Amino acid sequence: MATILFEEIIFGPVHSRRLGTSLGINLLPLHGKICSFDCLYCECGLNAQHEKGQMPKVKDVKDALEKKLIELHTEKVILDVITFAGNGEPTIHPDFDQIIDITISLRNQYFPKAKVSVLSNATQLDKPKVHAALLKVENPILKLDSAFDETIRILDRPASSSYSVKEQVEKMKTFHGRLIIQTLFTRGQYEGLTFDNTTEPEISAWIELLREIAPESVMVYTIDRETPVAGLEKITVKELKDIAKRVKAETGLPVSVAG
Ligand code: SF4
Repeated sequence: MATILFEEIIFGPVHSRRLGTSLGINLLPLHGKICSFDCLYCECGLNAQHEKGQMPKVKDVKDALEKKLIELHTEKVILDVITFAGNGEPTIHPDFDQIIDITISLRNQYFPKAKVSVLSNATQLDKPKVHAALLKVENPILKLDSAFDETIRILDRPASSSYSVKEQVEKMKTFHGRLIIQTLFTRGQYEGLTFDNTTEPEISAWIELLREIAPESVMVYTIDRETPVAGLEKITVKELKDIAKRVKAETGLPVSVAG
């Protein structure tokens, strides 16, 4: 099925369901994908469908970002957020920390009111440079699609055989609340395996982890575009709102819904 690769280092601004007017930064290869997950719902496609390719150099990111920010500033565009997303996991870039510093500095110069967001699958949190860099941005938005390793293995398909939700949660707790949790809800079947992270046991266990992590807020959403494999169901907005209501009632955390 049709999926999209970002063919620029800087893309947009686009209207994001979750973040508002967002200028995107892609630190991954322009014609490939690199990710430590291989989510069945990934809008970039499955890892095996793409070459890995080269990641952009720090100078190329800086130059492209500054050029775009100057252009948007001249056009008096209102920018809500600068978002690291793109063709895979941004924190895998070896110079992610330096690029975050440069981005914050350019943001302060041209769009001081814009927030910096990083959409991350949280697999690189054990690298001190990545951890520190994520704590510098306003919105480290970290993925937690289930409280159960088995569900993550089927739906998000981590490359590491030692991936453990329990360990991930411990790392997320070291943010002391300075993070946002993002969770995509879906259900379906793929290659004979069934998944559904909307069941009662899934939601109860996930809420329990939210209580432990105590993030600033939670984003719940579902599939928006075509997925690389067939068989994934888009959850209704009503279901997402019911999940959000339950999180608010049981934890008091703010929750945003993008259906
Ligand atoms: S973590 Fe994000 S980029 Fe990586 S496979 Fe999943 S959806 Fe795609």
